Amino acid sequence: MFHHADWRDRLWSEIDRPWDLIVIGGGITGAGILREAARAGLRALLVEQNDFASGTSSWSTKLVHGGLRYLANGEWRLTRESLHERQALLDAAPGLVEPMDFLMPVYAGHRPGRLVTRLGLAVYDLMAGRWHAHYRGRDAVINELPYLATDGLRGAFVYPDARTDDVRLVLRVIGEALADGGKALHYARVDALCRDGQGQVCGVSLHDRITDRRTDVMATAVINATGPWSDRLRRQLDGAPRLRPLRGSHLVFRRTDWPLERAVMLFHPDDGRPMFAVPWCGATLVGTTDLDHADFPDTPPRMTDAEGDYIMAAVDRYVPGLGLARDRAVSSFSGVRPVVAGAADNPGEASRDSAIWAEQGLVNVTGGKLTTYRVTAREVLATLTDRLPALAGLSADAAILSGGGDRLAGRYGPHAAGVRALEEPATVGDTPFTWAELRWALRHEGVEHLDDLLLRRTRLGLLLSSGGEAVLPAVETLCRGELGWDRARWDREVAAYRETWQRYHSLARRD
Ligand SMILES: Cc1cc2nc3c(=O)[nH]c(=O)nc-3n(C[C@H](O)[C@H](O)[C@H](O)COP(=O)(O)OP(=O)(O)OC[C@H]3O[C@@H](n4cnc5c(N)ncnc54)[C@H](O)[C@@H]3O)c2cc1C
Repeated sequence: MFHHADWRDRLWSEIDRPWDLIVIGGGITGAGILREAARAGLRALLVEQNDFASGTSSWSTKLVHGGLRYLANGEWRLTRESLHERQALLDAAPGLVEPMDFLMPVYAGHRPGRLVTRLGLAVYDLMAGRWHAHYRGRDAVINELPYLATDGLRGAFVYPDARTDDVRLVLRVIGEALADGGKALHYARVDALCRDGQGQVCGVSLHDRITDRRTDVMATAVINATGPWSDRLRRQLDGAPRLRPLRGSHLVFRRTDWPLERAVMLFHPDDGRPMFAVPWCGATLVGTTDLDHADFPDTPPRMTDAEGDYIMAAVDRYVPGLGLARDRAVSSFSGVRPVVAGAADNPGEASRDSAIWAEQGLVNVTGGKLTTYRVTAREVLATLTDRLPALAGLSADAAILSGGGDRLAGRYGPHAAGVRALEEPATVGDTPFTWAELRWALRHEGVEHLDDLLLRRTRLGLLLSSGGEAVLPAVETLCRGELGWDRARWDREVAAYRETWQRYHSLARRD
């Protein structure tokens, strides 16, 4: 992505020239907008206050899904859109977005009933344009998952969806935007919005947190794609809060502790909420919760003890045969959904649809999904065709991502050959990540801090015991060699990483 050592300086050397578009926020929403804007030939800049995808876009359940649950809520358009985008991503990015069967065990007293579920899945299939969902009998299910609770087990529905690595999806989308002439700067925070004589937003006050440079950057249009932070930015315009931040947490188990070939959907025994166990990056993640997290962003999200216990109550009920306990998990993670406040009391019923609105020239977008990022991006840009006529020519059929195939091709697209050429195919521990991927990230992917490398460019910090303590000496050698960090810098990076890991990803009881 950033193939020149001096890319940040180069970008700064042209930052003062006015831009067509500034996108604030480097999660999937901002990335998707930058990608489409660059495709339209706009001079577009994305700015992200921390690392790319360090907000909600790294802490999802990793599903590229049609949204079976939206169907249950009667959100037909959202389901149709999600199914369409799921297929488009599956076609465009094999190796990154992977088809995956989901098993939904059915127990006596199952709610919704078997007939309703069968009907729902039939509609899901019909809308997706292919017949796939089917029912498996009790014996077949026990054969596949011998550790599943058998008490009251009737059988299971099987239906198709897909999974991805959310961070890598964001990085791929940003990478394609850069290849098309878009620009992106991470660790660059918008401290304030600039306004013209009529009070309309016409730029941003930017603070580069790596070089400590500050400047005002002007643009024809500015988009607020800051996800759960968007109300915070809008405060400067006196915008009344629109968000209902909802926290969701997950636990990650070793695959050897919880072997899983396909995802499993479980209904929580206490409240019937759907939860997922998903095989992911050689591990099994299970979640999620859905709770109000009103003091965001002042209090960043982390899994509470009550949430850990809630997740484990479902695991204990349905997976008693593996002897799993909370402290056998390798890590936990939490994110905040940027859901738009609506009438629903119950967090689970709040719509996951995106919302787009303009406010004193600032275009706000929030609430979208990973899955539907492209639709959201096009809808946002469609509101700007008056100000930026080049956007009128955007085609809905343009390619999403170029290149894909096996895991490396999917994750790195056109750069997969470069990763392979490093000839370090050994994997780090029992994860699928290779040492070549770490080196590639350090050389070409804008790693500024150790957690960029271990929590996002790779997900080793979530997959290895104690955040990867055992591999840190080898990582130190790599970082010092590739980034020129001296001993003191490494010590600072490690200390900061350990603190982040302990606070946000460890299993320590805290409440
Ligand atoms: C628990 C959970 C599970 C989910 N599961 C799924 C799933 O399986 N499938 C799916 O499709 N979706 C899922 N989602 C939804 C999806 O993850 C989010 O909707 C999506 O990631 C939101 O992306 P975003 O870009 O809008 O926000 P974010 O990813 O949060 O990005 C916003 C960015 O703006 C930056 N920012 C904020 N303020 C500033 C500023 N002043 N200057 C510069 N930058 C700033 C932040 O640092 C942040 O990186 C899930 C969400 C959660 C929480």
